[in-house]
Amino acid sequence: MTLRLVLGDQLHIGHPWFTRPSPDVTFLMMEVRQETDYARHHIQKIAAFFAAMRAFAATLEEQGHRVRYLRLDDADNRQDIPANLSSIAAEAGADRIEYMLPDEYRLDHQLREFAESTSLPCGAVDSGHFLTERKDVENMFAGKTQYLMERFYRDMRRKHDVLMENGEPAGGRWNYDRENRKRWNGEVEAPGGTDLRTDVTDIASMLRHSGVDTMGNIDANALAWPVTRGQALQRLAQFIEHALPHFGTWQDAMSTGSPFLFHSLLSFALNVKLLHPMEVIRAAEDSWRNDPARYGLPQVEGFIRQILGWREYMRGIYWAHMPEYAEMNALGHDRALPAFFWTAETGMSCMRHTISQSLEHAYAHHIQRLMVTGNFALLAGIDPDEVDSWYLGIYIDAIEWVEITNTRGMSQYADGGIVGSKPYVSSANYINRMSDYCGGCRYDRKKRHGDDACPFNSLYWHFLERHRDRFSGNPRMAQMYRVFDRMDAEERRATLQQAETWLAQLEAL
Ligand SMILES: Cc1cc2nc3c(=O)[nH]c(=O)nc-3n(C[C@H](O)[C@H](O)[C@H](O)COP(=O)(O)OP(=O)(O)OC[C@H]3O[C@@H](n4cnc5c(N)ncnc54)[C@H](O)[C@@H]3O)c2cc1C
Ligand code: SF4
Repeated sequence: MTLRLVLGDQLHIGHPWFTRPSPDVTFLMMEVRQETDYARHHIQKIAAFFAAMRAFAATLEEQGHRVRYLRLDDADNRQDIPANLSSIAAEAGADRIEYMLPDEYRLDHQLREFAESTSLPCGAVDSGHFLTERKDVENMFAGKTQYLMERFYRDMRRKHDVLMENGEPAGGRWNYDRENRKRWNGEVEAPGGTDLRTDVTDIASMLRHSGVDTMGNIDANALAWPVTRGQALQRLAQFIEHALPHFGTWQDAMSTGSPFLFHSLLSFALNVKLLHPMEVIRAAEDSWRNDPARYGLPQVEGFIRQILGWREYMRGIYWAHMPEYAEMNALGHDRALPAFFWTAETGMSCMRHTISQSLEHAYAHHIQRLMVTGNFALLAGIDPDEVDSWYLGIYIDAIEWVEITNTRGMSQYADGGIVGSKPYVSSANYINRMSDYCGGCRYDRKKRHGDDACPFNSLYWHFLERHRDRFSGNPRMAQMYRVFDRMDAEERRATLQQAETWLAQLEAL
């Protein structure tokens, strides 16, 4: 009998493993403290994982597969993946163990060590989920210090024939960023969150009884994330119908009036493999082909770029640079993450809104993660380890391969520029241009210094100044150094002094 391990983010019903039930195969799925405790997770994240795993196990059983499912509070649960594999293999009389290749280095390493140490023959198969192999990005950019997403993305468009016409990009352009990225003023109503509601009270109370340390809020009667393939497909259809027609236009907008705006909320379903990336891409492309008047190319291309481009590219960066990537701290940042990241109790309106919606929904969209919380952490010189563990815990979709590359790489520039050619930093100007946050803030977005000056402003110039040696020669940043150098000397001094004051009292901001 073969024992096949299915991890919590491997719920891909289209995988060849699940084509036909066999009496010689038992699937093993497990909820373990090893996974609930490696970071302090949002309670919705753990509940969604376990609910999705339980539903997947039930589907397999309905299809006639043999399944051994270990709940977190089962007496015979050893709370550790290799220990459970050994004990269940012995209990079931298995003569072979197989697993799908994990997406995380940590688990990949652990399972490889297990395979080498166990007396049973072990085999690993691909999860069949991604559109690239682990090492494709590394091979494509071999010998280069910087990787270019745009080049990778164009290759992917050609290779998978996505939004292509006669070998050329549909509409004659690869990129519609110029048309996209507007501030949202409510001119089109935002569709809001999902209308999915799953009762996870049993899981929430099990987590409480077991003493699992979580963060954030949950309405356990009504979890709003897709936890079955049916729900994931329903969510995809809703997104395509109501939000995709406007996705690109407002993809970078932020608003106190809508935490979700026109985003898909599909990252959890994609990351646990309830949806295949290509089916999401094709669904978006087909809507444009069938109804180009309703689904403009800039909207659809903007969305497809995120999945066919960024998602696959980040995975490639991960496998090219782990495990060193997790240690990188190119800017030498070492401050502690302020406590308001866990409570949202801060006078900075942009930070308060972004953090409180993250605690409420386990969700913030890309620009909130990058240009509000990430921007602040980078300007304030927070230790990337602390930033990583916050992002890894709080978001519903946070799995290391995609969290760390976005956080340590894109957001914190801790990889020294592998992902981004310049750091994503901004003053209040950008936040005000893309949101309505500044209007309701106790700080003044126009001021650089003074008790009510927006902290982003002085911290921005302080960041540039303290990293002058590294960035002043960067053609994409030279202009900002010229702006600073042209400022009145007293203004420069007062701005840098103000930043020092804020840095000494980050907790009080
Ligand atoms: C600091 C930081 C941390 C992040 N951590 C994660 C994370 O842990 N897990 C995660 O899935 N995404 C992460 N992202 C990327 C992105 O913010 C989320 O994928 C997105 O916000 C999820 O919401 P959505 O499904 O509504 O996305 P949409 O805006 O609707 O985008 C559609 C899909 O594109 C993919 N996507 C979009 N941007 C990216 C990106 N930069 N990298 C990879 N995939 C992308 C996602 O699968 C997403 O579901 C992070 C971004 C930043 C800046
Ligand atoms: S004024 Fe500054 S702190 Fe306040 S919302 Fe705007 S950018 Fe954020």
